[in-house]
Amino acid sequence: MSVRDPAQQRLTKIVCTIGPSSSKPAQLRELVEHGMNIARLNLAHESAEGQRQTMKELQRIRSSESLGLGILFDIRCAQIRTSPVKSPIVIRKESVVSFGVESLRRKLKPGETFIGVDYPAFGKDARKATTLLIDNGELSFEIVSVSSQGLVRARALQDGSIGTRRHINLPSADLSLPTFTAQDWKDIACAVEEGIDILAISFVRTAKDIQDVRAFLRKKRSTIMIIAKIETRQAVANLSSIIDAADGIMVARGDLGAEVPFEDVPAIQDHIVRECRALGKPVIVATQMLESMIRHPIPTRAEVTDVSHAAVTLTDATMLSGETASGWHPSGALDAMDRILRATELRLRSEQTTVCPILGEVEARAQVAVQLAHSLNVDAIVVMSHSGRSARAVSKFRPHVPIIAITDQRSVWGQLALSYGVSSILSSFAGSPETSANRGIEAAKKAKCIGKGAHIVLVSETDITGGSTISVQPRRIQ
Ligand code: PEP
Repeated sequence: MSVRDPAQQRLTKIVCTIGPSSSKPAQLRELVEHGMNIARLNLAHESAEGQRQTMKELQRIRSSESLGLGILFDIRCAQIRTSPVKSPIVIRKESVVSFGVESLRRKLKPGETFIGVDYPAFGKDARKATTLLIDNGELSFEIVSVSSQGLVRARALQDGSIGTRRHINLPSADLSLPTFTAQDWKDIACAVEEGIDILAISFVRTAKDIQDVRAFLRKKRSTIMIIAKIETRQAVANLSSIIDAADGIMVARGDLGAEVPFEDVPAIQDHIVRECRALGKPVIVATQMLESMIRHPIPTRAEVTDVSHAAVTLTDATMLSGETASGWHPSGALDAMDRILRATELRLRSEQTTVCPILGEVEARAQVAVQLAHSLNVDAIVVMSHSGRSARAVSKFRPHVPIIAITDQRSVWGQLALSYGVSSILSSFAGSPETSANRGIEAAKKAKCIGKGAHIVLVSETDITGGSTISVQPRRIQ
């Protein structure tokens, strides 16, 4: 089934995390062929500099594609990690383990198990915590005591092991570490240099984190889209101001489920998707969506239902993490997600309603375009969109026909790959609006997004006496 066939086009987008299983040129191309919309490079594991080769390869691949393929940098941000070890340290249930900065190693009593931590104020912040989690709860500890020098003694609640640079959560503590490290700013600067479309910011706590990135980008005259990852308790508490400040949101369920009781994650997820939709900001549901496919060739039925649920709530995108980064079946996991999303969208076509507040003139026009498209049962909505705003406004009303967005901006071309239902085409705007629209439509025909005879609704600037206006017109493709 071709993703280029408008009748069959998947509307919910798929973000694939690139890693050792998917970073070779042939593997990247395979993911593109199987329908990857956004490639996510996770800088938690390697800096932007270290991923330059993969970035270049992705740029090369997308320049040979007609439809926008987005590239997303997931910025690591401040997080607590354990020190490197030669081999994983085995932990037995009920044993008491000491955690602290490396300099505290010499304060240990004979026979104590020590886990180094890379955060100087760890002891101070741990005083406010009762639980310590390794790798989002793969292994959990109850904090027993914190010494005056900051050595944290904690009782293991399960058997397990701790390898190199494992992620630590202190769920009930408000961490005092700053959100960004010097490396994060270097990575963000590299994203600007390399023409990356989207930044995802980890461990956001307040809207100020997003405003800081925005100010940095503005100085560099960059319009990279900023996605806030919601994965801390503080971010949940400050949700509406963070959504306001960001261009989009990722529901980062891995850390989120360690920071808040995991049974609260479904309600938080649905709430975030609803809020983002109301404001017309792209939203990604992420993590463990098809986790079992890291090893197995088919998903569990519970995973199928999870992906389908996200599509029912009309999220813009669902994400694959370890499944494509380090799994055994990267394109198999992508195919499975694609199948689940398509099947769910087919079912939704007959029942979908798009009740969303209309915020301003651009959205009012977009809503009219979607209503017209549904009433006339057209094949697609074509929207001319320089900044991406008009295309996102049409996407907000979740038409059940594809949206073909024609843009003259390379960055917008990649960013729109994240928006529900949007296929983006890069085509120059020149001469009259009619000439630009016709040129864009020709490019869309070439990309096989629409064919001769197709019935469309066109949202475009139109010349009128003394200036131009935006019109919404039904048309037949010649
Ligand atoms: C998450 O915690 O769900 C997440 C997406 O973040 P990361 O993969 O960067 O840990």
